[in-house]
Parts: sequence; structure tokens; C-alpha cells
Amino acid sequence: MTTPPRLTFLVDVDNTLLDNDAAKVELDRRLRGLLGEQETERFWRLYEEVRQEAGVVSYPLTLARFHEETGLDEPAARDDAAQRELRFALADLTVAFPYADFLYPGVFEALAHLRSLGRVVILSDGDPAYQPSKIARAGLDAAVDGFVLVYPHKEEHLREATASFPADRYVLIEDKPDNIAKVRANLNAPFTGVLVRQGKYAAAVGAGSWASAEFTLERISEIIGLDREALLSPAHPVAAPSASWRHASSGST
Ligand SMILES: [Mg+2]
Repeated sequence: MTTPPRLTFLVDVDNTLLDNDAAKVELDRRLRGLLGEQETERFWRLYEEVRQEAGVVSYPLTLARFHEETGLDEPAARDDAAQRELRFALADLTVAFPYADFLYPGVFEALAHLRSLGRVVILSDGDPAYQPSKIARAGLDAAVDGFVLVYPHKEEHLREATASFPADRYVLIEDKPDNIAKVRANLNAPFTGVLVRQGKYAAAVGAGSWASAEFTLERISEIIGLDREALLSPAHPVAAPSASWRHASSGST
């Protein structure tokens, strides 16, 4: 008697489970209402500075730089009622942003389907402080039994991920084409790539099936159409990647 192969699903978050592009547009709209045009431009300039320096988006660090540049946490500003209110409102807007409102339709059904097939782990790029909090507040922790891994660049931590969640085959579900290629190149195990064509990065590969993933879905909710057999024996196998992807560093989130 043979044991059936064990599957582990590595599921991305931004633009895979939640519409991060739409969330950012809404955050920008609310920031302009709170700070005005000029200070909102400052906020996004600092956000980009932090992203360039740290290699990941970090709202806590962006807020700290904003305080520093504007003197928002100086003693004089603390004594000023309007400045005090602004400091609280800005933190609420960014750190407590309602990401649960931006989950794609059918996300919980999709995750429940994957859990019926194997272990489901969220594997997300991001700031190690902010991103786990964002994932928890979006309500996603419980849907994956709390298995949440966050790294600045996920493809650099695959050995930890595979040691923690051993499997006969890994299925990466992801909106970023580059990440599928990098994980395929760096993962030392059988692999199936699923590109979900949601958001600005996936849009760049154009219409139709993407040749470098075994499956291309238009929406995360379509994952319920993939069963064990399909995932283990994809109809369109993908060739092994070139060595040029190995040790490549990731772009932005
Ligand atoms: Mg993503």
C-alpha cells in the first residue's frame, strides 16, 4: 500500500488573497482627507524611501520618519490639541487600516478547499512587524490554522519553510510572476506554480495562460476547480528554470 503524496500550499497575501492595490488607493484617499495634498505627498515620498532602503514596505517606519520630518511627536506638538489628534488619526489610518474589507470574494472558500487537500501556509513578503498584524486583522490567520510565515524576501527562506512544512509537492499560489520563477528556481522539491492574475504585477504577463506557471487563474475563487489530481499532474508542465534566477533578490511588494 502506498501513502498518497502530501501537498503543502504556500499562499501569498497581497493581491492574491486581498486586493492590496485597491487598499492602497483607499488609504491614499483617506490620507489626503486627513493630511491634505502636500503632506500626503510627503508621506508617500517617505514610504518609497523606506521601501528602497529596507527592501519592503514598512508603515511603522514610514510613520516614524513622518514624525521626525514634521516634528509631530515633539513636545510642542504633543501639547497642541490638533497635532495630538492628527498623530492619533494618522496611526489609526495606517496601522489599523481595515484590510478585511479588501479580501477578494471567495477567499475563505478557497482556503477551505486547499485545507481539504493538504497543509495550507501563508508565505508572505513584508515587514516582519506590520505584515503579520495586517494578515491577522484581515481575518486570515484562523483560515490557515495560524500557519503564517513573513519574510522580507520569501525565496530566500524556502529551506526554513520546507523544513517546517514537509511535503512531497509544494504548490505556490501567487500574483507575482517573478516570485513564482524565483521559488521554482530555489525550491529543492517538486513544485506547482499557480499564478492568480489579480493586481498590477500579474497584469503585466498579459492575457491567457502564463507559460511559466502550471495554472493561471483569473481569480483566487477559481482555485476550488483544482483537485489533487490536477495539482499533482498538471496538464501543462513547465520547464525547469534557468540558473539566472538563483540567488536573485526580490523586488517590491
Ligand atoms: Mg502578492
